[in-house]
Amino acid sequence: MSQKFTLVIHGGAFQDARDYEAHTHALHEVLNAGSKNLAQGQSALAAVTQAVIMMENSGLFIAGKGAGPNSEGDYELDASVMDGKTGKAGAIAAVRAVKNPVLAARAVMEKTPHVLLAGTGAERFMDEAGIERLDDPQSYFTPSHTESQVPKSASIHGTVGAIALDKDGHLAAATSTGGLVGKKAGRVGDSPIIGAATWADADIAVSTTGFGEYFMRAVAAYDVRALCAYKGETLEAATGKVLDGIKASGGWGGLIALNKKGEIRLDYRCAGMHRGFVRSDGKIHARSHPES
Ligand code: ASP
Repeated sequence: MSQKFTLVIHGGAFQDARDYEAHTHALHEVLNAGSKNLAQGQSALAAVTQAVIMMENSGLFIAGKGAGPNSEGDYELDASVMDGKTGKAGAIAAVRAVKNPVLAARAVMEKTPHVLLAGTGAERFMDEAGIERLDDPQSYFTPSHTESQVPKSASIHGTVGAIALDKDGHLAAATSTGGLVGKKAGRVGDSPIIGAATWADADIAVSTTGFGEYFMRAVAAYDVRALCAYKGETLEAATGKVLDGIKASGGWGGLIALNKKGEIRLDYRCAGMHRGFVRSDGKIHARSHPES
């Protein structure tokens, strides 16, 4: 038991440089709340769930309230969670009218023998599990981006993620997204795919963001883990190799990674990534743009 904790979060990688002061402020609040709870002995699983809920509710990121519509004007959400303490995972894909997709993912993990539920069956499960649904999704969701805010050449993406190491030395990871704004109906990205966007075991936790198809084909989160576990690479070398590979194949995005020693990476291959972290000293680091 190290008695030390770390919480790392991201609010999505992006290709467009805008004024992101509100986002940085929101990251601060999430880290502040997380740091207080982790200091009091909160589990890594509870900490990543809470951090993602706060970002889903903020309306600032393309996850939860801030999610954007697909090509048919509907909101379809993806999320996943993995608990490094138990090795268990849960996820939901392309579900509608749910306030906090991360809670649905966690319910899949805790209340079913399955890992991933999708579509209408997932929606029925959420009702059975008592997950809060939305009566009027069209008025609840307030897309954080609109088509006119970014250049036509840039895809509109945004996702939130959190990874944590608690005082007992356990790791957890969670990722939640509305996916690509204007995506094809039924499109599922990397965010609910364990091993692509989300990974946590006894040694490492990862959450990714960016052009999901590239992260899926690269099995990115698990590849970071595999490079560390099987090749003995450092966290920095492993995350760099995975992101460079994604960029070389034409993709873009970023990730956050944390190991049981408390080493962290917040790395991206695009214009920027909303990101931050806090450790046991309580000092909060949050930024959106590259180091200046
Ligand atoms: N990876 C997400 C997806 O492709 C989007 C994002 O991270 O911004 O659905």
